[in-house]
Amino acid sequence: MRYLILSDIHSNLEALETCLAVAEGRYDRVLCLGDLVGYGPDPNAVTGRTRELAEAVIRGNHDKACAGITDAEDFNSLARVSTFWTRDELHPEHLAFLRNLPQGPLVLDGFELVHGSPLDEDEYIVGPLQALPALAHLAVQAGFFGHTHHQGGFVLGPKGQFQSIRDWILHQEAEHLEDDAQRVTLKLEDGTRYLINPGSVGQPRDGDWRAAFAIFDDAKREVEYYRTPYNLFQTQEKMEKAGLPEPLILRLTIGR
Ligand code: ZN
Repeated sequence: MRYLILSDIHSNLEALETCLAVAEGRYDRVLCLGDLVGYGPDPNAVTGRTRELAEAVIRGNHDKACAGITDAEDFNSLARVSTFWTRDELHPEHLAFLRNLPQGPLVLDGFELVHGSPLDEDEYIVGPLQALPALAHLAVQAGFFGHTHHQGGFVLGPKGQFQSIRDWILHQEAEHLEDDAQRVTLKLEDGTRYLINPGSVGQPRDGDWRAAFAIFDDAKREVEYYRTPYNLFQTQEKMEKAGLPEPLILRLTIGR
């Protein structure tokens, strides 16, 4: 089975549609690691599209805040503005869908899905300090997480070797695909544990503005990491028209 793994779409319809077009024909099932909404201009279209496509979706911190489960008090002022704008914008059926999303970790077909960390759905796994306890806590060989918007993840080898997959990806020669998309493939080794971050579809923060996603092939034991350019100007224009804060519009350009 080939799983298309989407995370942190953040109401960016152009990025989502481009990822789906690049992934076309390469996957069997769709999974989503949360943060469908928040920041971007298309919360309804993105929630609707994800609902029709994904077989499993877990909630992210922005889904909780936009659905009114949390009050967004721990968000910075820009995120709070976008949260309240999104709440007003969302149709009642989409709000209800977001409110009822399950909390991770969700164990599915022998791997784990979480938004933040297997230990805490809202924790950011940014380095070894958070990754090592999370890797030790994994009940299965591989877990998929999002939340940081950094494509890659972390590896713990059988002798205790620790590695950042982001660093590894940056040293690989990417395969060039149609429409300027790129792919790097990671082979999963027996006895090694993986926390895999597919990257953010709609608001990357790893210094690369291109939309990110991953495809996991559980028969081949391979994870493919993809990056694809999308129509950024269109998204930014919609954000401007919606009156969303300028720093949120600009950050999409630099991927931070
Ligand atoms: Zn997010």
